[in-house]
Order: sequence, then structure tokens, then C-alpha cells
Amino acid sequence: MSRFLADRFQSLDAYTPGEQPTDMKYIKLNTNESPFSPSPAVLRAISEERVRELRLYSDPTCTLLRQRIAEQFGFEKENIFVSNGSDDILNFSFMAFCDGNRCGVAFPEISYGFYKVYAELYGVDAKMIPLAEDFSVRAEDYLDVGRTVVIANPNAPTGIALSVEEIERIVASNTDHVVLIDEAYVDFGGESCVELTRKYPNLLVVRTFSKSYSLAGARLGFAIGSSELIADLEKIKYSTNPYNINRLSMLAGAAAMEENDYYMANCRVIEQNRAYLTDALCALGFEVLPSKANFIFARSDKIGGEALYLELKRRGILVRHFTNEKIKEYNRITIGTMEEMQILVQTIEAILKENER
Ligand code: PMP
Repeated sequence: MSRFLADRFQSLDAYTPGEQPTDMKYIKLNTNESPFSPSPAVLRAISEERVRELRLYSDPTCTLLRQRIAEQFGFEKENIFVSNGSDDILNFSFMAFCDGNRCGVAFPEISYGFYKVYAELYGVDAKMIPLAEDFSVRAEDYLDVGRTVVIANPNAPTGIALSVEEIERIVASNTDHVVLIDEAYVDFGGESCVELTRKYPNLLVVRTFSKSYSLAGARLGFAIGSSELIADLEKIKYSTNPYNINRLSMLAGAAAMEENDYYMANCRVIEQNRAYLTDALCALGFEVLPSKANFIFARSDKIGGEALYLELKRRGILVRHFTNEKIKEYNRITIGTMEEMQILVQTIEAILKENER
């Protein structure tokens, strides 16, 4: 830290992204990326001619991409906001809809780590609500909380989802505050609450191209909500970085929207591989939380969370381990191809056997 850093950031605890080591080739199951390639139309969209156009600025209104998303979901483009990854939209939302003195925020104590970072970054009072004993988010805890509400559904890193009815109870009881539902993982078996945005102007649904649409490296996220909420986010974007989606990512996202069936079929494969991995780990004595996401959260009585993470890494498989006391015995494991899942299961079996001796 230099002596020039503003006072308000000196104690800020920044987000720690999943590791991306380059010392060897790993089976990478630590950052919830898709194991599948972007669809053929995306590959075609990034032509040499388009690369040449990089000399020009991108379209700050992102009209083509917003239009395609709007058509896919049956909304108007005024209901769609797009930005540089859903992290960017979460960032803008904390900026726009939370206020240090006037309006705090509430989110689950165990959830996506960035929520806490944004709250700290903007000096917003954060109420972190504990999960139930079974690691689920209890809808009752979010009724009439008098704050902006942020919930990942399905939640991360647990993978456990709330129903649309439960989300509606939360949204309907907090009409004077924004309720942001982060649906980064909803395509893997969760229920989307996007339709509720037609009825509730305080509901903002945030989605990403990073998981189900195989475009983590393109950095694209979108939000669906009332035109007023979207206009607020636009205001923040135009006050920070109006060209924040590059030309190639915009084309990739627009092309991806045209091949929705390809991506949804991939999601069904992920669900099958998730069932395979869950069954196999349960057979090895693991406890696996019921996941509706492209990852599982699992622990074993036979080996500690950190020990398993380190052993897997040593053998070329990366999973995500968190040091938080309440979840340190678990690992979050991204669902990959069937081959990757089989190698993972064999490797864990071997580690447990060696551990017994
Ligand atoms: N929300 C949740 C719950 C996530 O796990 C992630 C991925 N780390 C994100 C948002 C951000 O995804 P991206 O910025 O790649 O869209």
C-alpha cells in the first residue's frame, strides 16, 4: 500500500478471485466456468474484419445486445442493462441503490464474497443474515428488512435455491427498497424470477454470460428490471465508463443469444454430470448439499476441507476452498465434463485410501 491511498480504502478487504495458476495444466474446477466452447455463431461473429474494427469505440448504448436479450426474454430493451460482467452490475447496484446513511443492505452471511466487499467499498451498513442450519436461505429472514436486499439464487457457494414463491414474498414485503436477485447460476435447474419484474418495480434480476453461456472471458453480464431501475444503472455507467463493453464481447453476446438451445442443452449435461458426481461422492461418504448450480459444495468426515483441496491440487485438480470458519470443512467443486468428473472421483477415492493407512 502506498501512502497515497485514500483513507477510506486503507482497511478495505478486497475480493480474492479463484486462483489461476500457470505452473502446470490443471483440471480446473474452481471458478465455475463452463467446460463447453461458445456456440458456432459466437466463433463466427469474431471475424478478422470485426477485429479490425477494434480501432473504433464500442457502442455505449449496447443496442444490438440489449435488443437480442430483450427478444430472448420477452422484454423491451429499456428493461435490459448490460455491463462488463455481472460483477460490474453488482458494483453499480451497490453504488446506485445503497446509501451509507440512508439505506443499508442485507444479504446472507454465507454467499458470494463480493457483496461484503462492495458494502465496505461504499461504506454501506451491511446486515449479514445467517443461513439456516441446513445452509438454506430462510425467506422469512428477509421480509420487511428496511434495506436493499441482495440474494444469490441459487446461492453460492452452497448451490441451494429458493423458489419463485419465496422470492416473491421477499420482493412484495420490501416494496420501498430494491431487491436484487443474482441469478448467475439459475440456468442449471433453479427457477428464475425474471417474470416478477413485470409486477414489481423494485425487483432487479442480475444474470451473467459467464456460466451457462460459456463466455466468462468475454466479461458480460445483464440485468432485467423496470425501466426506472435500468435508467438508474445507466446513469451510473455513464458517470464511470460508458464504453465498458468492448466490441468483440458485444458481438459474442449477441450471437450467443441466437443459439439459446445449444446453451440450454449444455446446462442439461451439467445437471447430469452433477447428479453423477453427487452420487459418487455420497457413495464415498461425503455430505453434498442439494445443488441447483454448476457446482457442488461437499465435505467428508474422512478428510478435512483444506487437506482435500491441497491433495487435489498436488495431483492437478483445482477446487475452491474457503477459509471462513463456518464452511472450512467444505470444498466447492465446479461441474465439468463427465471425463473430468470421473477423474475427480478416482482421485478422491485414491486420496481417501491413502489417508486410511
Ligand atoms: N454472482 C455470483 C453469485 C457469482 O458466483 C459470480 C461469479 N464469480 C458472479 C456474480 C460474477 O460473475 P461475472 O462477473 O463473471 O458475470
